[in-house]
Amino acid sequence: MPNLNEKQLQELKEQLEKEAGELEAQMGSVKKTPEFGSDVESDLSEEADEAEEFSNNLGTKDVLKERLRDIEAALDKIIKGGYGKCEKCGMDIESEILKVNPESRLCKMCKAGK
Ligand SMILES: [Zn+2]
Repeated sequence: MPNLNEKQLQELKEQLEKEAGELEAQMGSVKKTPEFGSDVESDLSEEADEAEEFSNNLGTKDVLKERLRDIEAALDKIIKGGYGKCEKCGMDIESEILKVNPESRLCKMCKAGK
């Protein structure tokens, strides 16, 4: 964990766990198909950040599932090691990115697409 100290890592872990819990709760509420004619909450789209814009054509649940998978992968890496490395180029992911998007798999350069 070259660019992250123990304390930062712990904070990111807590952030990820909290986010995972929220996503699971959201998925639980998405699962139930709303009764016809009932009020439908449509604030889920606010959760999607720019990194997920490309997947807007997927169902909300798929987006949530995808996000949850990234978070779980990140948590797994925090525990087993290798967290904070770009999956594409192997460089350390900038801590500013991890702060905003702790489940990020790519560094700034790769995220920008080259
Ligand atoms: Zn990279």
